[in-house]
Amino acid sequence: MALINCEECGSEISDKAAFCPNCGYTKHQNIKPVQREGCFLQTLNGGCMAIVVILIVIGIGVKLGPYLIEFINYIYQVSQSN
Ligand SMILES: [Zn+2]
Repeated sequence: MALINCEECGSEISDKAAFCPNCGYTKHQNIKPVQREGCFLQTLNGGCMAIVVILIVIGIGVKLGPYLIEFINYIYQVSQSN
């Protein structure tokens, strides 16, 4: 653990600290700003992969929702008739 100078206020802070306890300055090296632009272009890098997967799942769910409900009803009726 080393002490570095805060880029904002110049106070000595730990290089492991996520932010400066004196002024609250967040170091760029530990917390990278979220890049919303180019999100879909960087999907293969894994940055936004989870978001894309969730959107795809929601899209499939919306499209297949009525069929799923029918399927569940069918299963329910079959189980009831037995
Ligand atoms: Zn500071």
